[in-house]
Amino acid sequence: MADLMSYDDRDGFIWFNGELIAWRDAKLHMLSHGLHYASAVFEGERAYGGEIFELTKHTERLVDGAQTLDFEIPYSVAEIDEACRQTVKANNLSDCYVRPIAWRGSEMMGVSAQATKINLSIAAWDWGSYFPMEDRLKGIKLAWATYRRPDPATAPARTKAAGLYMICTLSKHAVEAEGYQDAMMLDWRGFVAEGTGANIFLIKDGVIHTPTPDCFLNGITRQTVLSLAEKRGIQIVERYIKPEELGDFEEVFVTGTAAEVTPVGEIDQHRFTPGKITEALLTDYETLVRTPPAAVAAE
Ligand code: PMP
Repeated sequence: MADLMSYDDRDGFIWFNGELIAWRDAKLHMLSHGLHYASAVFEGERAYGGEIFELTKHTERLVDGAQTLDFEIPYSVAEIDEACRQTVKANNLSDCYVRPIAWRGSEMMGVSAQATKINLSIAAWDWGSYFPMEDRLKGIKLAWATYRRPDPATAPARTKAAGLYMICTLSKHAVEAEGYQDAMMLDWRGFVAEGTGANIFLIKDGVIHTPTPDCFLNGITRQTVLSLAEKRGIQIVERYIKPEELGDFEEVFVTGTAAEVTPVGEIDQHRFTPGKITEALLTDYETLVRTPPAAVAAE
């Protein structure tokens, strides 16, 4: 790992509480509430040809997530959208990943954090395929995760709250050690839920089955792919899926802003072959993200 370029030591600019500052200066104190108590929420966006795909949906999810964590980001959706665009532009990026994050500051330490300042910062960087391209085309290998998605009564399960990723990192590390690319998580009841950063779609007899997102993120890519499938007239069944059913499916893929549409070759002992539906939706998604929003609206 010695050749990794650290994320805190790069050229460029980061939007930090209202201004663009030098990348290396975007720092916070170790006594930040967000770090100790996970009072932080973030987004993951991708720009294609300089345009952030579904920017306002991402910003709205960020603002909603902050409200769920009981804080108010001190900028409007329009201001945050503009700040994301400025960040992409300031770094001369065209195809890139965009990472806004909001967190409670250092003004209070302890579980209660009512008077902390709410910070918002946005970075953008060049980020190719989330999974190595050669694995992606063959279909990635997944294994069951160590942890389950929590009951919404246990955690703010449908947000991109930083704390929820603790179980994702642990689960992903455990399967990576066994040669898999990602972990497939069950939910708290034992139904198939999602990957550690992507939603799942399973195909049988030309019909798409996908888990009901009642305790995990209803991804923006998931919603986009569902509307693309609908446009193609593919039947969609949203339901609870048991892990024992996996052997019945022919094609499987996962979706996410970072993962885009990624075919799955195996989950545990089950094997899948990327087929026509995966290929069609992968192509439709790649076309859509590169279509100017005005052209999509005019359709
Ligand atoms: N689930 C989790 C846990 C994620 O982190 C992500 C990525 N944001 C997704 C699903 C997919 O969401 P989206 O399509 O909005 O990126």
